Amino acid sequence: MPAEHCAGDEQEPSPGLPQGSFGPCADHGPGPEPTDRAWHHWLGRGVVRLWTLPNTLLGLVCLPLALATGGGAQWVRGVCEIYGGAVTWLLRRVVPLQGGARALTLGHVILGRDRRALALCREHEHVHVRQYERWGPLFIPLYLGWSVWLGLRGRSAYLDNPFEREAYDAVPELLAEDERWLA
Ligand SMILES: [Zn+2]
Repeated sequence: MPAEHCAGDEQEPSPGLPQGSFGPCADHGPGPEPTDRAWHHWLGRGVVRLWTLPNTLLGLVCLPLALATGGGAQWVRGVCEIYGGAVTWLLRRVVPLQGGARALTLGHVILGRDRRALALCREHEHVHVRQYERWGPLFIPLYLGWSVWLGLRGRSAYLDNPFEREAYDAVPELLAEDERWLA
């Protein structure tokens, strides 16, 4: 709200407002102008992208591999999704899960077996994107550390991992399906 409206509110408070209140402007403070807010937003997003960049680059290594082997890529909700070709093979054969993985997140890159798998797992994988944004280069060591510790204690290194639990909590219907997948 422009500053001159705040001044007007101070002189003539709206009926019903408690004493000492200056209306909506007082609640929110003058705040930055909309252009400043947009600038701060994009600056913040840039810092987050930079913090996540080492993991994103790891994911982007798969882009030429996928494109050269019949796969593809798409940009969805601020994330590069890479699917098919060599990526399908990697998810099936290299990810240490029974039957492999349908999708896997590396920073702002989501790898998927195909577009159907990406659509099915997108909400779950976006929780991992936010985890990468929070933990940056620490995410993979923390994730693997939890998995090793849980495995040593006889628990599931995957389903009991707190990062997975957070992601499955966001999309509970996927959990039942993945438990069947991993059985
Ligand atoms: Zn997951």
